[in-house]
Amino acid sequence: MSNRNSVRVRFAPSPTGPLHMGGVRTALFNYLFARQNGGTFILRIEDTDQTRYVNGAEDYIIESLKWSGLEFDEGPVQGGNFGPYRQSERKAQYREYADMLIEKEHAYFAFDTAEELDQARSEAESDGRTFSYDEHTRLSMKNSLSLSSDEVKKLLQDEMPYVIRFKMPEQAEAVEDEDMIRGKVSFRTSDLDDKVLFKADGMPTYHLANVVDDHLMEVTHVIRGEEWLPSMPLHVLLYRAFGWDKPVFAHLPLILKPQGKGKLSKRDGDKLGFPVFPLEWTDPETKEVAAGYREDGYFPEAFINMLALLGWNPGTEQELFSKEELVNAFSFDRVNKSGARFDPEKAKWFNHQYLVNKPDEELAGLFGPVLAEKGVVPPSVDHLTRIVSLVKERVSFVADLWEQSAFFFVAPEEYDAKVAKKRWKGDVPAFMGQLADFFDGVSTSWDADSLKEQVSALIQEKEMNFGGVMNSLRLALVGGSFGPDLFTIVEMLEKDEVVSRIRKAVEKLG
Ligand code: GLU
Repeated sequence: MSNRNSVRVRFAPSPTGPLHMGGVRTALFNYLFARQNGGTFILRIEDTDQTRYVNGAEDYIIESLKWSGLEFDEGPVQGGNFGPYRQSERKAQYREYADMLIEKEHAYFAFDTAEELDQARSEAESDGRTFSYDEHTRLSMKNSLSLSSDEVKKLLQDEMPYVIRFKMPEQAEAVEDEDMIRGKVSFRTSDLDDKVLFKADGMPTYHLANVVDDHLMEVTHVIRGEEWLPSMPLHVLLYRAFGWDKPVFAHLPLILKPQGKGKLSKRDGDKLGFPVFPLEWTDPETKEVAAGYREDGYFPEAFINMLALLGWNPGTEQELFSKEELVNAFSFDRVNKSGARFDPEKAKWFNHQYLVNKPDEELAGLFGPVLAEKGVVPPSVDHLTRIVSLVKERVSFVADLWEQSAFFFVAPEEYDAKVAKKRWKGDVPAFMGQLADFFDGVSTSWDADSLKEQVSALIQEKEMNFGGVMNSLRLALVGGSFGPDLFTIVEMLEKDEVVSRIRKAVEKLG
């Protein structure tokens, strides 16, 4: 048995589809809290709802968290002393706990059929009320509180389908609990209904399985999304009914749409062109593919950094945090109660920062496969490293390095018409021919500084407009008005290529 004082937290996703980025943030905050406290980070798969089970979702969740760099100490992959870590494999134990509550008179059998429940609902509706299975109605329903024990025995013997419901305390009372983010949370038991704990299919509901497992796995802190806040009262009461110590709760703020009201959804991503899932996801039924941060070219460190600041802030201007820095800086005191608005541009900004801060050689290595895909024979590592260093400030993703540096590998086929119209006119075309001849005749060392000096002298001698020539030379070499320092490009393309590109432009542009 572990030491009760050591922090144990869990991430408890249901494999009902791909993991939303909000889920990754929940896992991240659990992870940071565990690491900060030298605690244990657990993955528990909550797969008791057979009807919502989606093939491949569990593997997807595990792969996503691995890519994000959130390593678990215990879980279905690595095991641990509190396993199994899949609720479907813990099935046998839940009934025992439901029975324990029945014995303590905190739960009861309910035999109401779907039709009977519907009828109760519509009767209430016709009176202008909403039906709630609670202390006011339970005795008029078909359950082990309203029926005699013989009747109940008979129904059980006849294998009449039933559920097990929690019996809300009869004395209305106010219950209070502390949430690490929200502070005091209070609720009245009279506002709550008798929730189903155990279903007719022999499976526990989320509430029962979640509380039983958190207890058995000795979870000390339950850190989860705000959407579970409404479940907190029932969970608190369940701990009390069992007579167990309850964990400390923390309900994280929602991640909001970039614009407008509400929770960030896949639809927002589709509409505005950003991923909401860590990895690409192919729906097993529709085969529809949803974008992923990984496939879109995000670095996992950037993704995690961005997520950490959705709802948490360090209280300083610092925005860039390594995982280790996050472990040190994170605290629930600085997690907001209100929702955190997601900004896709900011996500790109984070990736840009991580890209720029990566060593050029590393980026060159990452760029290699992109070049291969474009059919480019990769240049030497040194040359590629230099190219990357020249253009990396201009991009947010490795794949975009191509757009900014393609001219280093292939001569432009087309020229920016606007630039050509503005610059390639008057005596410029004729001069460009002379410039090609000049470059062709250079016999001194081929380096940016000395070439620049010599070309400047030539421009002066021929009384040409310096800017016009420079823009036209750039147009001939790169096809437009973009790119790094012009003479650095000249130097790196080398003599033959420079001469041939200028001659080609003279031919094509006239
Ligand atoms: N299975 C729940 C989910 O899918 C777990 C919620 C909790 O952490 O209690 O998020």
